[in-house]
Amino acid sequence: MQVFKFGGASVKDAESVKNVQEIIANFPNEKILVVVSAMGKMTNKFEELVAASLAKNEEQRMGVLSEIQAYHSTIASALFEEDEREFWGQMDTMMRELIQVCDKIHSIPEAMAYDAVVPYGELLSTHIVSYYIGKFQETAWIDASSIVKTDDKFKRATVDMTKTEKAIVSEVLPLFSQIDLVVTQGFIGSTTKNFRTTLGREGSDYSGAIFAYCLQASGLTIWKDVAGMYNADPKVFPKAQKIEQVSYKDAIELSYYGASVIHPKTIQPLQNKNIPLFVKSFLNPEESGTVIQKNAQQVLPCYIVKNDQVLVSLSSKDFSFIAEKHLSEIFEAFDSLDMKINIMQNSAVNFSAIFDAKNFDEKRVIEKFGSSYQVRYNTGLELITIRHYNDSIVKELLEQKEVLLEQRTRETVRFVVR
Ligand code: ASP
Ligand code: MG
Repeated sequence: MQVFKFGGASVKDAESVKNVQEIIANFPNEKILVVVSAMGKMTNKFEELVAASLAKNEEQRMGVLSEIQAYHSTIASALFEEDEREFWGQMDTMMRELIQVCDKIHSIPEAMAYDAVVPYGELLSTHIVSYYIGKFQETAWIDASSIVKTDDKFKRATVDMTKTEKAIVSEVLPLFSQIDLVVTQGFIGSTTKNFRTTLGREGSDYSGAIFAYCLQASGLTIWKDVAGMYNADPKVFPKAQKIEQVSYKDAIELSYYGASVIHPKTIQPLQNKNIPLFVKSFLNPEESGTVIQKNAQQVLPCYIVKNDQVLVSLSSKDFSFIAEKHLSEIFEAFDSLDMKINIMQNSAVNFSAIFDAKNFDEKRVIEKFGSSYQVRYNTGLELITIRHYNDSIVKELLEQKEVLLEQRTRETVRFVVR
């Protein structure tokens, strides 16, 4: 049993859907669960649809709805004949359901409304993909939200592994005794009360890992538009090299620090059951890609540069020590502001942390901390993380930079620079 995950870029048009079918056809006699995201950049469109519906902006809402409809219809028309009634009938039903949901959401909280609407991106996408593949081999489609059980933190729900594993074992696994291929969605789940939830943007890699874990798969393959994982972002560093193999530990650290090839939560379930993760190109499926597995030896220095960072420094006004109690208050306060700390440092009366600028709102930070702390901040910074560093790479990356903060362990060095 294998799990394949195809992201939005791999199903962005009719040709791409055909390519997905061809990749799967290369694995005859293999049982495969296929996890698919919304097509292309459709999730952004669905987000616009939620905003327009909540704002009761009728004109915008109708506009976005017809864009969504046209996008999927164009792809579907290239893949299905007009008289393929069952397919078109179900597609119509889904679109009608989506419109009804949008009609109903304006009185509910934003996050809940989001999770009622945005999953239609994955539902429509998998409907098209599974019916298309169904022309070539027997295929079952399942609604992942009836299987993946979560809490009710809408928009960034946490998966309940015990309930989910039970549902996968009792409802998905038996399908494979009759057929070789099951298609489902990434990114979506539901609460115990059966309200749909989502796992956070780009969450379908994580869904793939959950299915792989619960099905005890022999591997998870994430099919991407890049050849694998690189030791640096090839768009920024032309010298970047593809990594053949990398350990779970390195992969989890690198994705946590910002290497955007895989979602950071993907590794943990796989590591727990020792399931290898393959990152491969859907454009060149015969290439080796990268394998992430136990004990993989990887010694190339890997570096990640995050731009647009803000350094926020808090100094206690009354010169009281910033000790455990203060620290836990500070963490809670940043959490309540939805500000994820990228790196931090503290001294007796000082706490400094780095954030993505997009999560930083000067006014709200001062409101939150201004009464007890003197708040200072620097914008326009870079955060450089180097794993398996050596002197020459450090020198190269720090050339003409002023270092504001540095942290070093045996394997990783991180710099905040200007
Ligand atoms: N469709 C969702 C998104 O674009 C989930 C995913 O692609 O992983 O964020
Ligand atoms: Mg995506």
